[in-house]
Amino acid sequence: MKKRILGKSTQGRDLECFVFESENPNAKNFVLMGGFHGDEPEGVWVVEHFLNSEMAKEFKEANLYVIPQVNPDGVAASTRVNANGVDLNRNFPTVDWNAEAREAKYNPGAKALSEIEAQIMHDFILEVRPILFISCHCYIPQVNVNGDCKEASVYLSEKTKYPVTRDVGYTTPGCFGQWVLEAIGTPSITLEIEERMGKKLAVEKFPQHFVETFRRF
Ligand SMILES: [Zn+2]
Repeated sequence: MKKRILGKSTQGRDLECFVFESENPNAKNFVLMGGFHGDEPEGVWVVEHFLNSEMAKEFKEANLYVIPQVNPDGVAASTRVNANGVDLNRNFPTVDWNAEAREAKYNPGAKALSEIEAQIMHDFILEVRPILFISCHCYIPQVNVNGDCKEASVYLSEKTKYPVTRDVGYTTPGCFGQWVLEAIGTPSITLEIEERMGKKLAVEKFPQHFVETFRRF
């Protein structure tokens, strides 16, 4: 496993990526991430638990990139938004990006990619070009899907008992998953963990299923 610093956050924290490389030169790339929203700690805990376990090493047939905290300043402050008050998951250049914020906590920024953390993730995705990624958040429990990854999402849904959904119940212009789908055609799964589930239950329930979910793709 190699640690890579993808860049620095608004407040100068490292945006860390942990890379598990396959020996197979033709291996495909997968990404697992958490901490887009700093007030959704379960999403960070399950990714960190996965990282500190032996689970990632079992996935020898693929290259796996693990990013526990996309928004390290938000995680440090326990805020949804980054240090500039921007919701990073509304800051990507989707075709429907707009400057309108339904509420302050959904502030999309002055323009798409105004935020350094979004720029870092943008460049990372265009470099690595994963074939599927899983992003861990907290909200109404669901396995939310962007694009076509039916077998993988159904598998994760069966294991977690969370339903597969196509939208979260409201529009999300500028969201990361939609941008990745538009930019490189890669589908994604947003795992929405029950809010305030707590660390113990969350790390027992989810990390063990990530590798098998990737394998179903
Ligand atoms: Zn979230």
